[in-house]
Amino acid sequence: MYYNDNTILFLDGQFLKAKDAKMDLFGQTLHFGYGVFEGIRSYKTVNGTKIFKVTEHYERLRHSASLMGIPLHYSVKELTQITYQVLEKSKQSEAYIRPLVFCSPNMTLTSPKEVSLMITAWEWDRYLGDNNLRVCISSYERPNPKSVKIEAKVCGHYVNSILASTEARQRGYDEGVLLDMNGNIAECPGSNIFVERDGVLYTPAVGSILPGITRQTVIDICKELDITVKERAIKPEEFIEADSAFICGTAAEVLGIESVEGTQMKKPSDHSASL
Ligand code: PMP
Repeated sequence: MYYNDNTILFLDGQFLKAKDAKMDLFGQTLHFGYGVFEGIRSYKTVNGTKIFKVTEHYERLRHSASLMGIPLHYSVKELTQITYQVLEKSKQSEAYIRPLVFCSPNMTLTSPKEVSLMITAWEWDRYLGDNNLRVCISSYERPNPKSVKIEAKVCGHYVNSILASTEARQRGYDEGVLLDMNGNIAECPGSNIFVERDGVLYTPAVGSILPGITRQTVIDICKELDITVKERAIKPEEFIEADSAFICGTAAEVLGIESVEGTQMKKPSDHSASL
């Protein structure tokens, strides 16, 4: 599903066929979720294949690794060059790119000395499809920022995301919206959220969310378009009573919300767009 006989990935200095790549079963990342990763997209443009916000993504990867005490010895420039090579060697243009920094065999609960870097890519449609979403409020909270480095994109944090997504689907919704430890809206399992009221956009401030690169792009575009965006705490009631809302993230891109816990948004307009 994620590779075929011709897929070439990067692993620790080498370009290998994905089907021939191997990893150690005793690594700290596999056992404890102690690793960091990114999700990036590339698009076919009139100027060839371009990776969207590649510098921002690799700065975040380096920042995630540094916050976690994971030694990653690649610069943003090197990571960017390798990624373009992976796309070229795998003959891919419109791709979802997955860099993963995973740790060496180590069954102790201390930071690793050695890490591996894998970069691969596959074709992936918009993660949540093209239709506006019917969301619920998740019974799961986002992890407490005093327990984890919530602004880092850490493998283990996605246990929380899997629980929330699975719960939402079991309850018959497309996606769940998680609250933070104070009961305010935080984010979805793999995307950020914006709420609109009277033409003003509101989005949760950083603190209990992954500061998304798509979220920042939306904020930047709104600035150019003279649309006010306020980053502040949002109560679930405000969300349910909003005029409209959308989610955004690399995998899902930008997707409107149709209803919250069965209550239709006042203006379930067509927010769905590719940035
Ligand atoms: N929040 C979470 C929990 C995510 O996993 C993602 C996807 N990386 C996002 C938000 C959106 O971030 P980005 O726009 O950088 O993909």
